Amino acid sequence: MRHDLPAPADLHLHSTFSDGTESPAEVVARAAEAGLATIALTDHDTVAGWDEAAAACRTAGLALLPGIEVSAKHRGRSVHVLAYLPDPTAPALQRLMARVRDDRVGRAERIARNIARDFPLTWNDVLAQRTGDATVGRPHIADALIAAGVVESREEAFAAILHPAGPYYVGHDAPDPGEVVRAIAAAGGVSVIAHPAGRGMLPDDVIRALIADGLGGFELDHRENTASGVAHLRGFVDAHGLIVTGSSDYHGLTGKPNRPGENTTAPAMVERIVCAASGADPILP
Ligand code: AMP
Ligand code: ZN
Ligand code: FE
Ligand code: FE
Repeated sequence: MRHDLPAPADLHLHSTFSDGTESPAEVVARAAEAGLATIALTDHDTVAGWDEAAAACRTAGLALLPGIEVSAKHRGRSVHVLAYLPDPTAPALQRLMARVRDDRVGRAERIARNIARDFPLTWNDVLAQRTGDATVGRPHIADALIAAGVVESREEAFAAILHPAGPYYVGHDAPDPGEVVRAIAAAGGVSVIAHPAGRGMLPDDVIRALIADGLGGFELDHRENTASGVAHLRGFVDAHGLIVTGSSDYHGLTGKPNRPGENTTAPAMVERIVCAASGADPILP
């Protein structure tokens, strides 16, 4: 099988199967308009969008890396682990995603009930913003607040009402990053820590343990990363020969300001991901 995919590549995009505002087919159309040749669909904790994305990529002539952004948690802080080309039927990975998806529903309901003390919002309003059985997240609550006229954008909702330091927030349960990295490796996937140099970085000893667990690399080109954090992580990349990616983290035109192709992944790195993975095949143009 061919391991080199066409450039440019953006390896982190979301659809309505999690908290993006556009269907996989629409995401593929936006990616094509942006001039991308390879994309990865990486919805939170689900592979449900893969088939639609694959069909749309075949039609549009784009290459697709089926992916997932798996939720993890280290000492109460959320950590996102991108999984590329994992076997979607691998039991450990399936169990872990099912657990997180389940927990996210009860957690979102608790946040919504907290918000309902002060704002006109019901749990049904939140469910009305969810497409099918999409992975639920705070963005769906933000969309319900927009529909209720409380805020004008997801950004505004996150800045105050949905902020973790605010009075309504509830964290979600998620496995530790080591468990996630091991499950992705067992599924034949390649794991990459998403936006690893934002506010609050994983401690060095945790990163060393993740590398021992089979961590593939870091998403160093992402708008939320800080320059100092990236410089620090480059030390690990150089010492351990890790993969480096760059991606947009697109959530739809109205979901977030991130735009397809605003960061891209070098062709040699895409090739390394495809060569290292054994759980699923890329969709070739
Ligand atoms: P949750 O997983 O429920 O904690 O929600 C986190 C999700 O909300 C992430 O996937 C982000 O993409 C999204 N998010 C975080 N901050 C913002 C923001 N300021 N505007 C829009 N979406 C955001
Ligand atoms: Zn998201
Ligand atoms: Fe993320
Ligand atoms: Fe993301």
